[in-house]
Amino acid sequence: MAAIAFIGLGNMGGGMAANLVKAGHVVHAFDLADAALEKAKEQGCVPFTSVREAVQGVDAVVSMLPNGKIVEAVYINDVIGHAPVAALLLDCSTIDVDTARMVASAAQNAGYAMVDAPVSGGIAAANGGTLTFMVGGSEDAFARAEPILSVMGKAVIHAGASGAGQAAKICNNMLLGASMVATCETFKLAEKLGLDLQTFYDISSKASGQNWSMTSYCPVPGVGPQSPADNDYQGGFATALMLKDLTLAIAAAESAGASVPMGEKAKALYTAFDAEGAGGRDFSAIIETL
Ligand code: NAD
Repeated sequence: MAAIAFIGLGNMGGGMAANLVKAGHVVHAFDLADAALEKAKEQGCVPFTSVREAVQGVDAVVSMLPNGKIVEAVYINDVIGHAPVAALLLDCSTIDVDTARMVASAAQNAGYAMVDAPVSGGIAAANGGTLTFMVGGSEDAFARAEPILSVMGKAVIHAGASGAGQAAKICNNMLLGASMVATCETFKLAEKLGLDLQTFYDISSKASGQNWSMTSYCPVPGVGPQSPADNDYQGGFATALMLKDLTLAIAAAESAGASVPMGEKAKALYTAFDAEGAGGRDFSAIIETL
């Protein structure tokens, strides 16, 4: 069993670190928030008072942090040059592709192997060990990362070289944001045209309009499978996080010279929804604005 430093024990990282402990790993935990660190201790992690101390002597470092600026600062200032050079570095946060590549390249220049490994799946999947990891890095780094990530997830997929995990994540979530808005407006139109919504669901879910936002996460209460819509849009995937991912996707599209009109429209709609104070509600609640 390995010694693993875990940096960032919030909503997602807390459950992920607990699953590493359950698998028998020794987990060195660090978070700026005392409450997060205390909870990690209750779940069997060993708490540390700084990143530099937490990464001493470990076999791997896993991070689950809010954004690219924080990931850059943590790795450049406190992980690279402080963790053993044989330690594998795994950043599971959702961040921009350019920062992911820059940090991986700084790590590689210092002799470390590093992967970007963002996740699909929310807090329940983090707690249950059923996340999907999209991994960017070399074949060798992926082979070393896979056994650690599979403790925390149900699927671990090699997306390509450094940054490819982040690229896959934001492409997927741009499609999710746009398809959710399209699904919501379609149900609203169906309603205005006098269709019974369960009947429309039964038809469209077996016809060419079928999509995940409809059949796995229906935004209409009482229609389709259980979803946040059946719980007043609580839990699930927060609007603020969808807006974060759409913002990363549109920035990446601009930097790559890609035309993404549907992604831009979804970003504009989620920006307005977030500004109304809906950042903490599930992203399917946007149906109420249409
Ligand atoms: P969170 O805010 O609950 O947790 C982040 C943690 O990082 C906090 O506990 C915070 O105190 C800690 N932190 C911040 N700066 C730090 C530093 N310099 N050193 C150590 N700790 C620091 O966020 P979350 O919901 O757990 O999300 C984490 C990442 O996962 C984000 O990048 C997010 O986009 C991504 N993500 C979240 C979800 C979700 O449903 N919540 C789903 C998929 C991906």
